[in-house]
Amino acid sequence: MTAETALFELDAQSIIDDAIHSAARTYALHIVLARRQHLTVGRLGDFTFPAGRYIYTGSARKNLAARVKRHLSTDKKLRWHIDYLLASPSASVVLVQLFDKDECLVNQHHGGVVVVPRFGASDCRQGCGSHLKRLS
Ligand SMILES: [Zn+2]
Repeated sequence: MTAETALFELDAQSIIDDAIHSAARTYALHIVLARRQHLTVGRLGDFTFPAGRYIYTGSARKNLAARVKRHLSTDKKLRWHIDYLLASPSASVVLVQLFDKDECLVNQHHGGVVVVPRFGASDCRQGCGSHLKRLS
């Protein structure tokens, strides 16, 4: 995908440094869930997440670096849907990609299936269905 501006091995500090110096406004977190999990996702409710690889797509118009840093931190209050998934000890972020395209375009470019409708997509106006997809 030509929109991709950066692709990193997971080194949190270098990801954050690159985000600071990037014009990117959208990020994709590649997440591996080692075991099937039953999780409560805030007000969305309770869901079963099959083990596998997931992609979560989000954006931040300002402070993309701070947002990515927050996602990679384990010391935080649960606020966004993705926080509830990443709080699972079975979940780990294995890759972070940055894009200079709209988050919905990036999200729709990714394949995969929706596990939790409306996950991370409360503000979505592009009909994504979910901003979390399970790849395998
Ligand atoms: Zn969307």
